[in-house]
Amino acid sequence: MLLLEEEKRKLVEGLWNKGIKDESVLKAIYDIPREKFISDALRKFAYDDNALPIECAQTISQPFTVAYMTQVLNVKPGDKILEIGTGSGYQAAVLFTLGAKVFSVERIEKLYQNASILLKELGCNISLKLDDGTLGWEEFAPYDKIIVTAGAPDIPAHLIEQLKDNGKLIIPVGDHETQRLLEITKSEKGISKKYYDYFKFVPLIGEEGWNS
Ligand code: SAM
Repeated sequence: MLLLEEEKRKLVEGLWNKGIKDESVLKAIYDIPREKFISDALRKFAYDDNALPIECAQTISQPFTVAYMTQVLNVKPGDKILEIGTGSGYQAAVLFTLGAKVFSVERIEKLYQNASILLKELGCNISLKLDDGTLGWEEFAPYDKIIVTAGAPDIPAHLIEQLKDNGKLIIPVGDHETQRLLEITKSEKGISKKYYDYFKFVPLIGEEGWNS
């Protein structure tokens, strides 16, 4: 038990040293049991600052990446947030812990099912959908914020449409090797873009994403 707390403390300290200064984000990372989102065999690596494999050749993102994107998203309690790429459900749990109303879409059935069970077990009241997230989730639009956790070739038009005015979309855009995190803000005048660091994500596959 003590050991686990020590590992969590070290992770959070490391994130702080890498530039994550938002205390609510650091607290969420500390509080969420990341070991539950990965297989038993990998549990000893749960609090290393690394991406780890999950089922279906996908990954749970590196804690730094999750913290960085969440910090950029600037989550406020009550924000209505759409996540594309549920994966393990970890990022969705972070958003929920910060007080957001979370909607998350995953295209792989097994991951959708695993995340549904786990998030319920952890008491995270998150709406999940099995679908192509490049088309967003029209039924509950518009959203205050949208976060895409897979690498896209371009910005899906449906996601911009489903953003509120003054809403914010963050999405890694690039090729299959690396992507740059973009922040898109929508206003009456159109959209504006802000550029952040480079990351490496698994591909966003779908109608408005990659073919494979
Ligand atoms: N957010 C996840 C987490 O916390 O574990 C990590 C996501 S993983 C890096 C990217 C996920 O995006 C994968 O689970 C992948 O199946 C999913 N994905 C890729 N294309 C998608 C699409 N068009 N719609 C929904 N999910 C998609």
